[in-house]
Amino acid sequence: MVKNVLIPRCSYCNSDHEPDLRCSACKVTRYCSSEHQSSDWGRHKSTCHTIKRCRRALDVEDTKLRNDDGGGGGFGWAFPFENYVGHFWGVYSTRPYMRARFNLVAEIVKVNTHDAATAALGHLLDMLRLCRGDNQGVRDLVPALYLRLNRDQECYDFSKWYQTEGIRGDYNWGDMNLGFLDLKNEDVMESAAVFCDQWGTSHAIPVTLMKVRMLLDLRDLATASALLEVPSLNPDAVRSIQDHLDFRSPIWKARPELLAPDGLEEKIRVLEQQTDDLFKSVNKGNEYFWKSIFDYEKLSQTPPHSYSNGTREENVLLLMHNGRAWDETEGAMGWVLDKLKSS
Ligand SMILES: [Zn+2]
Ligand SMILES: [Zn+2]
Repeated sequence: MVKNVLIPRCSYCNSDHEPDLRCSACKVTRYCSSEHQSSDWGRHKSTCHTIKRCRRALDVEDTKLRNDDGGGGGFGWAFPFENYVGHFWGVYSTRPYMRARFNLVAEIVKVNTHDAATAALGHLLDMLRLCRGDNQGVRDLVPALYLRLNRDQECYDFSKWYQTEGIRGDYNWGDMNLGFLDLKNEDVMESAAVFCDQWGTSHAIPVTLMKVRMLLDLRDLATASALLEVPSLNPDAVRSIQDHLDFRSPIWKARPELLAPDGLEEKIRVLEQQTDDLFKSVNKGNEYFWKSIFDYEKLSQTPPHSYSNGTREENVLLLMHNGRAWDETEGAMGWVLDKLKSS
């Protein structure tokens, strides 16, 4: 029913029919048959080996850290997994572990599969649980992965938390009694102001896509309703149209009232305004992003060693984190193109 979702597919023939055979080494590709698994091996081999190597490196660090008694004497930080969850990275001995985990995620996200996105997101969320302060920029990768996995509401709640709570100067990242990433079912139709003109665009970009998905869906719905030439649709007719449309946004499942024909034009207008504000704000934050999103694959091959906001280097990361989610959403690149033409 959805247009944009990354669903489990055979990595060789791309079929989504029972691709039940998973590569046991990397666990992020799957196949519809052992024939297709062997046929894909030549292409998959090097990625598979790299992921396996990174996972082994992480396992080594994991074992070391779990057995770390702090070196005795009471000065060390003993058993971080029991005593310092939330404070990792600040506890020096955790850094090789956190680096190894990040390296593994960096390799996994290169693989364009549902399993890879799921695994990467799981690692990143757990890394935030271990280290709220997030010294590695994990929070910048999370929202687009939520979108790729069709978890748009969680993308919104996550991003909004950072742009409201996480942005406060007095938020104490070390206080485990404070709420952390605890927003749930926030109103996706509300003003996008908290995402505009902020420091950095890494949450504004995925929120733009989330709203673009809604906007394109509502436009499709309006077109379909107009085609039926029904001045005021009864609920059954609406449901029948909805059933026949492939929606991009999973938001409608939880909030079907937003699809009501009453005020449809007004909702479209509101989303047009919000996405326009976001588009401009992102453009202000990094002038390269929109112009280069069409070439995201080519441009995001090598991550920069360092960057500052608004630079070409930052743009490489923005493309790396967000490009696929835009590409996978039907009509989203077209929306960007229209915006560029009219601005
Ligand atoms: Zn296949
Ligand atoms: Zn593999």
